[in-house]
Amino acid sequence: MKLRSLISHVLLLLFTFSNVTAQTREGWRSVRTNHLFVIGNAEPEELRRVAIWLEFFHSAFARLVSRNVIDSSVPTTVIVFRDDDSFTPFKPGYQGQAKAVSGFFLPGDDVNYIALSLDPRGNPYGTAFHEYVHLHVKDNIPNAPIWLNEGLAELYESLQFSGSDAVIGVPKQGYIWVLRQVEMLPLKTLFSIGTDSPYYNEQDKATIFYAESWALVHYLMLGDRARQDQFKKFLQRIGNGDDVAKAVESAYGITLDVLEEELRAYIRRGSLTAQVITGVANPETFRSYTATQRSSLTDSEAYYYLADLCVHMGRDKAAERGFKESIALDPGFLPSYAALGMLYVEQRRYDEAERYLQKATTSPQTSLVHYYYAYVLSRKGMSATGQLSQYSKENAAVIREQLLQSIKLDPKFAPAYYLLGVVDSLSDRSDEALEMAQRALQLSPGDKRYARLVENIKQYRAGNTTTGEPLKSEAIAAPERASSSKMLGGDSGPVAINDGQKVDTSGSLPTVDEVMDRYLKAAGGAAALNGVTSRVVKGTVDVVGVSRGGTFETYSVAPNKAVSILNVTPVETIRVGYDGRVGWTQTATGVRVLKGAELASVQTDADFYAILNLKSLYPKMTLRGKSKIGYREVYVIDLEPNSTADRVFIDAETYLPVRMNSTRMRGNVSVPVEIYYDDWSAFEGLLLPYTITISSGKRTMLLTVKEIKNNVPVDAKLFEKPL
Ligand SMILES: [Zn+2]
Repeated sequence: MKLRSLISHVLLLLFTFSNVTAQTREGWRSVRTNHLFVIGNAEPEELRRVAIWLEFFHSAFARLVSRNVIDSSVPTTVIVFRDDDSFTPFKPGYQGQAKAVSGFFLPGDDVNYIALSLDPRGNPYGTAFHEYVHLHVKDNIPNAPIWLNEGLAELYESLQFSGSDAVIGVPKQGYIWVLRQVEMLPLKTLFSIGTDSPYYNEQDKATIFYAESWALVHYLMLGDRARQDQFKKFLQRIGNGDDVAKAVESAYGITLDVLEEELRAYIRRGSLTAQVITGVANPETFRSYTATQRSSLTDSEAYYYLADLCVHMGRDKAAERGFKESIALDPGFLPSYAALGMLYVEQRRYDEAERYLQKATTSPQTSLVHYYYAYVLSRKGMSATGQLSQYSKENAAVIREQLLQSIKLDPKFAPAYYLLGVVDSLSDRSDEALEMAQRALQLSPGDKRYARLVENIKQYRAGNTTTGEPLKSEAIAAPERASSSKMLGGDSGPVAINDGQKVDTSGSLPTVDEVMDRYLKAAGGAAALNGVTSRVVKGTVDVVGVSRGGTFETYSVAPNKAVSILNVTPVETIRVGYDGRVGWTQTATGVRVLKGAELASVQTDADFYAILNLKSLYPKMTLRGKSKIGYREVYVIDLEPNSTADRVFIDAETYLPVRMNSTRMRGNVSVPVEIYYDDWSAFEGLLLPYTITISSGKRTMLLTVKEIKNNVPVDAKLFEKPL
């Protein structure tokens, strides 16, 4: 396997670079990838791991389902709770109790939410995949009944990756057991189950519902007669609004009764087999994994997101409390004013709404916030029954300004034109009024109110009525809950993440020596670095798309002995060592002595004081300019030894390495490698990266450091080539 030698060599290199201020390990933070915005109170590396696995799943899923998976038109926020205790207050309820779930998906018009708990008693990644399927089903199979939605989610949550292949439909023994013990639900019953049914909500009943939904989707998709094409046709039919019986008949040519018999036989025979789908990993997507943007959230922001989740769950009281708490923590945090103001509008609490929306709109907000504020102000010229009479000049001016702002942000939002038309005609501006009313009607041709307003204004202009007359019968409908918020810190939809490719050479730059000196200081300084003569590091390894929860250990002793031991579950154990003379690798296939360029690689990586010896390791260093990786500003420095060129990206604020581009020998072939360093934290006077991501070709590996020990005795035998 290509991965092996690569990992091991790189492992040796990892701790030659060290690191800024210790990050707080409490509180909320966020990670943004190209498709997702992930927030949570989990450890930063856990959060990023969820983000990266979901991005990987996104690319794999897109290729599995069809070539044309539609990405959601609204952004998706994933909320990751570190444990069940912090998740429970936000779980959906059923009959007054929190449901026993480990995650849920909540679609919205403005933002989709996925919430999940990392509680070790659950299966967090399975849950994340499961909920992500619901997201894709929402956008790609709009009329999917619940059994189909859950069946697909159950099928995909157990997706396993092996290299660039995916294995789908691994039999779920628990479900098969249940289906053989309990009387299967008639398909008619299964198809009629809705979100309020006990079969969806009560644990014992839900088991049979989920099991049977899973089995049916398994049969329809992977069963007897190579069914993928038929299944696609079936999904299309469902998406077009056909009922299930009809869709089954036209896609499979059988009746429901026959299908029910076949499903029974399928489960009885126990012939459910998984299917391997080759080539699902898309190398293009890997680059974006590692250039994620991370930041910590203030408590005020965290309250805002949780309150917004509550709004979307219909928990208005909790939402109101949350937004108020957010404002109490940071009285300048306008998104919470906006969200609370909109909530009050929906609750018809207009006086409170006005106060909060006025404050919110002191700086630009979303189109809807401006519209809501205009609506609240427009009520001042309204009778109790919603009939309009008149506005003061000042009020009309503010309303107009807010509506124009709203239209500027969303030129396709018809109600804003309509309200502007109404206000203009009451203010004797019939030219503008007519234009606005016509625009509203253009955008929403079927709307009778818009048509009536156009007609009334025309009548007025023809001299058939007097000012204000056309509107006697107008009643402006209160805004409906469409949206309450937007994701902070970015526009909706996919965003481009800076990946360090564009180097800016303009502006004044420090010298390369200045940058490298600052780096040395940031890492702890020469004295502290020299004070360490041996180190043991232990942690966990994920290989994205392949395996989770492996372990690694590195042992190193000054000046140049090192060994790395890697257990990538479920693959095997790999060792790479250098005893100051002989370099070697040990894998399942045996021990191999390294020569030539491969030996040179491990020698370099085993240099205990590499950071102090950079000048002799790299005779030529050149500062190329500035760039950005994620949100970080970096200096780009090319390092040239005799053979190949390496490139290091140093954070312009902290002077710690963010990324290293290098090459490693894989047999006779030189392979490019990108290494990302993150979560730099203080340890005994040094700064060390606690998260390291290594990408090469299609492979991305995440290393999370759990334990470091300096100056401990290490058995010299460890470094010697095994016999
Ligand atoms: Zn589900």
